[in-house]
Amino acid sequence: MHSFLSSVWIGLKMTNYIVVTGGVLSSLGKGVTSASVAALLRNANQNVSMLKIDPYINVDPGTMSPLEHGEVFVTADGGETDLDLGHYERFIDATLSKRNNFTTGQVYQTVIEKERRGDYLGKTIQVVPHITDEIIRRIKIAGKEADTLVVELGGTVGDIEGLPFYEAIRQLKHRLKSKVFNIHVTLLPYLAVADELKTKPTQHSVQELRRIGLSPDMLVLRSEKSIPKEMKRKLSEACDVEADCVIEAIDAKSVYEMPLKFYEDGLLKPIAKAFELGDLKPNLREWKRLVKNILEPSREVTIAFVGKYLELKESYKSLIEALIHAGAHNDAKILLKWIDSEALESADAQEAQNALKSADAVLVPGGFGSRGVEGKIRAIRFARENGKVFLGICLGLQLAMIEFARNVLRIEGAASQEFDRETKEPIIYLIDEFIDQSGDKQIRTRQSPMGGTMRLGEYECNLKAGTKLAKAYDGAEKIHERHRHRYEANGKYREAFENAGMIVSGEARGLIEAIELRDHPWFVAVQFHPEFTSRLQNPNRAILAFVENALKHKAPRCSL
Ligand code: GLN
Repeated sequence: MHSFLSSVWIGLKMTNYIVVTGGVLSSLGKGVTSASVAALLRNANQNVSMLKIDPYINVDPGTMSPLEHGEVFVTADGGETDLDLGHYERFIDATLSKRNNFTTGQVYQTVIEKERRGDYLGKTIQVVPHITDEIIRRIKIAGKEADTLVVELGGTVGDIEGLPFYEAIRQLKHRLKSKVFNIHVTLLPYLAVADELKTKPTQHSVQELRRIGLSPDMLVLRSEKSIPKEMKRKLSEACDVEADCVIEAIDAKSVYEMPLKFYEDGLLKPIAKAFELGDLKPNLREWKRLVKNILEPSREVTIAFVGKYLELKESYKSLIEALIHAGAHNDAKILLKWIDSEALESADAQEAQNALKSADAVLVPGGFGSRGVEGKIRAIRFARENGKVFLGICLGLQLAMIEFARNVLRIEGAASQEFDRETKEPIIYLIDEFIDQSGDKQIRTRQSPMGGTMRLGEYECNLKAGTKLAKAYDGAEKIHERHRHRYEANGKYREAFENAGMIVSGEARGLIEAIELRDHPWFVAVQFHPEFTSRLQNPNRAILAFVENALKHKAPRCSL
């Protein structure tokens, strides 16, 4: 064998690979299926990790609009990744790296760079073996420290851009045999007129998979209705999978139900058998308790979510999930009142204002660009003046400081350089300038096409003892949270803020990382994104405290 190829294969021996592919159509819940399989293994004490492969050409989703692609998830090591990585971390309660997600763009970039350097010694560079080798190399890196790696392949079998990936997986399976287990997720459509679930699309999609050399080991069938035994048997024969490898995925009220349902339907057994893992018995007691709280909560709390990407709620995915986690741990349903920040700016803002008034708490999430900013500032002012429990995240912190500067400190024209480049009162200013002043090159950044740099990934933050935020984190002195922003709070105004009752509750490297109000029931804002570290079984402490306080200070209602 080619010596380059052989080096690619070395080291693959130990890890088991579960490759999750999709058929028929997209949005079938491949991500949740992959995360559920991994969560079951993790709760059975297996050392499991996950990888998402995205066949799109973008090098990473960092420059994609949230409305186009949903949220950009940020890993601890500063990767801007597909939002599915967020599902993974939330389900398996593990910290993944940017190596746990790659795209076609990255694969080609690496191969082309190598070619330019002359690494291929004059060879003709081709999809097979060069691109497929690079795919395998990246899969191997992601699986290096895990006993089992769950690989989710984005897209649907038959897509043009997916072909090199299926070929790479075929090669992997050829080499590793039973150490590669393919779960194919497809749809069983229900035809109301015939009162029947239809198997034909699944059969065709398995045929398509076979055409490119893969044969599934298990089928996960998305379906509105329970799948009759007889139909499972038929599919097992027609698609050539074992009888116990036809698993149903019935529409669920909460994605967190899925691991429980899959386990009941026997998903773990054939995997354990294939990998010779013995009898796997995941401990799902805590998971069950939390799911019960999500489905049948005994309390509820209303949170006004003042955002601007409301057409696609996926752009706030991690935050919505983090609120669900905090709700589950408080046995409370979180009712989100979506308030379009621009609606708060208009002349007839009455409806939006009423929504704000009737909520138990106000949340201002992160965001980019000037649209809707003044509306968010109004919502913040309302929360501050009326003693409403408030959490500001990233842009939410920046605007809370601008609001305070304008309306309490009476600093006229207080602004962020993001919206007013020439402002005389830059309460929030550009990080590039800060980095230059401090000479701090340690901060991880990404050059953006807009000319700025982003501060990305996990940083430590020192908490001020006795603050609401320190209390939220159980009195911790140092915490670690993730960032994704370009601008920073300007330390020049710090004293004026503190003298007027806005305390800096978190800081690091001389940067203001969190603030809160002294004379307010619970008004906290953070420069980091707490939502990125929230997991069902391990909720983020800042968001947990926000929900706890929203419950504690529920009603009586106050007026604008
Ligand atoms: N737009 C602001 C910045 O770049 C805030 C970013 C955010 O909320 N993630 O600093």
